[in-house]
Amino acid sequence: MKTIVAKFGGSSLSDAEQFKKVKQIILEDKARRYIVVSAPGKRHRGDSKVTDILYMCQQLASHHMRFDEIFDLVRARYTSIVEELALSLDIDSILQEVYTAIADGASRAFCASRGEYMNALLLADYLGFPFVDAKELIHFERADRLQDERTRMAITEKLRPLDCAVIPGFYGSGATEPILCFSRGGSDVTGAILADALHADLYENWTDVSGFLAADPSIVPEAVPMEQITFTELRELSYMGASVMHEEAIFPLRRLGIPVRIRNTDEPNAFGTLITPDDTAADRTGLITGLAGKKDFSVFTINKLRMAEDASFFRKLLSVFESNDVPVAHMPSAIDSISIIAEDRYINGKAKRIAEEIRIYCAPDSVEITHGLAMIAVVGRGMIHTKGISARIFTALADNDINIRVITQGSSEINIIIGVENKDFEPAIAAIYYAFDERMRI
Ligand code: ASP
Repeated sequence: MKTIVAKFGGSSLSDAEQFKKVKQIILEDKARRYIVVSAPGKRHRGDSKVTDILYMCQQLASHHMRFDEIFDLVRARYTSIVEELALSLDIDSILQEVYTAIADGASRAFCASRGEYMNALLLADYLGFPFVDAKELIHFERADRLQDERTRMAITEKLRPLDCAVIPGFYGSGATEPILCFSRGGSDVTGAILADALHADLYENWTDVSGFLAADPSIVPEAVPMEQITFTELRELSYMGASVMHEEAIFPLRRLGIPVRIRNTDEPNAFGTLITPDDTAADRTGLITGLAGKKDFSVFTINKLRMAEDASFFRKLLSVFESNDVPVAHMPSAIDSISIIAEDRYINGKAKRIAEEIRIYCAPDSVEITHGLAMIAVVGRGMIHTKGISARIFTALADNDINIRVITQGSSEINIIIGVENKDFEPAIAAIYYAFDERMRI
């Protein structure tokens, strides 16, 4: 039997109406067997996510302050779903248990996890599917480290015998604490881990957008969804800040090459975005897949005659960044100069010290620092076979009077990275997007 692990995000399960859409989607395809859920998200602009309210309750309780009124918001969210869907579940007692646990000083992770826990109980009841608690499946060594083997075995053992199940996302049990959570948005990771352990044919990630857009819609309102993107392309774009799925979710899926489909609960007929292993994607000669970028990088430009003949030069240079705990993002080089590009959030006031250490250890002819750069990645697996892509990008930037400060191309040849001044960031993204425009579609 085909197996789909389907994860529904907070906005897909924010109220009873959304639950109805989700039920219809699940029942439409028997392969949708293992359902992972988030806590109820925002129902409209200005609304709150249940997870945020739970964090607030825990915060107040930890300062011995009253949280009854805020907790009533959580009660109202779940009871309205239970009432509108006429569920038989005794949600009042469950809510009371959660309230008491928070009042008794339960941990931050425990309190937050109850959002997913209760939503999964509701959906399981509504679908008539068994509920399986994530604490039985996902095992953490500590907050940011999973016990991979134990988790995989638990999932296989507990879920394989079941035809279907609803599982809360976002949390698991800790080695020394009852509950630990992934970082925010972590239900995506739960779904990915399940898909990997169960050797699923597909991982569906249901959200409130019809796929992963080819550019940030706040800059390019007409940006189209990318119909297909490879894992490597996704990595390049997510590193540059484009997000639609939790970054960590990609790693378990990549292991066995399980394809992912991003889909919209409010528009279930839209194709969405299909994310596939690199070697299975249709080629896209002549096209780019998408672009993303981030502001606030600094560039250290180091000049030294005959630097390329000194075998120890790069090691010494990089050790300065290592000892200052600054990860290097890019390092384009010429014969007698190299630029080290790093994010300001890591440099964080250490620029002068780094330049000084470079002078001491590497004896360069000069070191210059430029702040305030934005980096843009133009990503496309078709680039490797195509002439003229960079020409089109650079012409678009020149036509829009944008000065290019840095150019680099990854060795996999699926991306071109361009550095511009922070102030040119949005115009540059728009100029590049419109230079390809309709051709962004497959
Ligand atoms: N509910 C959690 C959050 O708001 C986890 C998730 O939605 O995936 O971050």
